[in-house]
Amino acid sequence: MVSSIVYGPVPSRRLGRSLGINNIPPKICSYSCVYCQLGKTLRMEVEPRPFYKTARIAEQARAKLKQAREKVDYVTFVPDGEPTLDADLGEEIGVLKGQGVRVAVITNGSLLWREDIRQNLLKADWLSLKVDAVSEDTWRKVDRPHKLLKLEAILQGMLKFARMFKSELTTETMLVRDVNDDLGEIKRIAEFLAVLKPVKVYIAIPTRPPAEHVEPATEQTINAAYQVFKEKLDDVEYLIGYEGNAFARTGRVQDDLLSITSVHPMREDAVAEFLSNARTDWGTVQELIDNGSLMDLEYQGKKFYMRKLPGTFF
Ligand code: SF4
Repeated sequence: MVSSIVYGPVPSRRLGRSLGINNIPPKICSYSCVYCQLGKTLRMEVEPRPFYKTARIAEQARAKLKQAREKVDYVTFVPDGEPTLDADLGEEIGVLKGQGVRVAVITNGSLLWREDIRQNLLKADWLSLKVDAVSEDTWRKVDRPHKLLKLEAILQGMLKFARMFKSELTTETMLVRDVNDDLGEIKRIAEFLAVLKPVKVYIAIPTRPPAEHVEPATEQTINAAYQVFKEKLDDVEYLIGYEGNAFARTGRVQDDLLSITSVHPMREDAVAEFLSNARTDWGTVQELIDNGSLMDLEYQGKKFYMRKLPGTFF
């Protein structure tokens, strides 16, 4: 049987209804991230090469788009490896866009020091870059890069790319406990992102079981990271495993509070205002704290409320 390169559409908080393109066989990557859900990188590579014929990808996408009952918002390159290792990526994006769809790419950004990769990615309508660390030792610990990669060149490549890219640039920073969640590193990442200027910055944690034993950063750290990022960046959101109901406003106070706090923490005064608008009181919040779905946290003398992280998977 010929395996399918195109899958979905699947719902995605960031992209709406997204048709996935798996343009890399499992699992070929330039990184072997400590939190990767795909298991160990089978082949560490840094030299782009062709994998599947562009016509085959285009044909499968066309068929899926035709079958889809609802509108597809994005066709997204999110493969079992690093999508930019596909030498034909630029051509594939061009052909898919010719089918009238918007194209997104979720990349680790490790090859952006190369001009050809920057050119390929410039064609995308939406891009997510991985920025887990900006210090050499932390980067090595969390992303475990191919031995030929150089962090400084990657960061410079990202900056160069960001200056040229006219579409939607976002970033994702995965915080892993005791690996890259030290406040000093989080501040350095924020400084880098402030220069990169993505339209949106996501703070993520591993939410599905990674192959190796790692733990997500704590709520305390995630809240601190949010506050540090917010000092330098306009649009910061969490990706902490509540994909389904985030942003869904139901009119039910407790559900809506949980929905908002799964995207970002709320300061005490914002919660007070929310409760007053909903004509209810702090008993509503206390109930959520008592049943373990919400928690309060201190940061620089202020109180914040955050949705508790989904149950640990260990
Ligand atoms: S870059 Fe992505 S696919 Fe590659 S190891 Fe990291 S998480 Fe896994």
